Amino acid sequence: MRKLQGKTCLITGAARGIGDAIARAFAAEGAEIIVTDINEEGGRAVADDLDARFERLDVSDENDWARIATRIPTLDVLVNNAGITGFETGETVHDPENASLETWREVHRINLDGTFLGCRYAIKAMRGKGAGSIINISSRSGMVGIPGAAAYASSKAAIRNHTKSVALYCAQQGLNIRCNSIHPAAILTPMWEPMLGDGPDREARIAAFVSDTPLKRFGTPEEVAALALLLASDNAAYMTGAELTMDGGILAGSAAAPGS
Ligand code: NDP
Repeated sequence: MRKLQGKTCLITGAARGIGDAIARAFAAEGAEIIVTDINEEGGRAVADDLDARFERLDVSDENDWARIATRIPTLDVLVNNAGITGFETGETVHDPENASLETWREVHRINLDGTFLGCRYAIKAMRGKGAGSIINISSRSGMVGIPGAAAYASSKAAIRNHTKSVALYCAQQGLNIRCNSIHPAAILTPMWEPMLGDGPDREARIAAFVSDTPLKRFGTPEEVAALALLLASDNAAYMTGAELTMDGGILAGSAAAPGS
């Protein structure tokens, strides 16, 4: 018996990167996949590959979630994966002194509001069966301060906290709906491409980015997907409100190493 046989799983931001890898890992375990994204072309390509269904879903749009609720009224697994750093617009200053209110709000609107709306939909869609798994993709940036990406870090920290509210709420309601967060760092996805480039310096830039990572490499989307698969499956039946890091060891220590 495959791990997700008979389960309906919706993944947001699944046109590429981590969401794409999660969709593929879940499909390989027998799940019925609903690929969603604002990138329709990319999302449809992933869905076609998996013989799965595609739905356009902007996670920050309440009307989109209402439409999803009518089209997919019952669900077993939701992965709230879609997210932005805020640097997509080309704005480079995101520190607490100079970040614009506009970017601050936009990052929270997609990352945090999107996760809130996803959780709200999922609880209702899982209530019928009284069981399910909600997986929120936060970040290691949600666990420490990031001076140069303050809005992103704040939004991811709020996701970490909301995960626990959802977990406790569902338990209080007598529902076996689990909610956990994954905290990746430095996962090599298309999100990194603008920073790495494809010129002769690419390898040097990669080495520089991972120089402070204990395992000295980027993680892969498939490695994050393996963790999401565990949380989605009944193997994690006793896990709720948990936060799992996937960061090559970054959060295991401190950059300010104690003297000998
Ligand atoms: P990518 O940027 O590679 O992929 C994100 C996908 O989400 C894209 O297809 C994007 O579409 C889509 N998307 C953007 N905005 C929305 C929206 N409003 N509604 C629905 N879909 C949307 O990201 P990653 O795969 O790297 O990251 C996935 C998640 O993992 C994010 O939440 C990210 O913060 C988190 N994460 C990633 C890390 C990493 O190192 N890669 C580290 C820590 C956390 P489009 O391309 O059209 O914008």
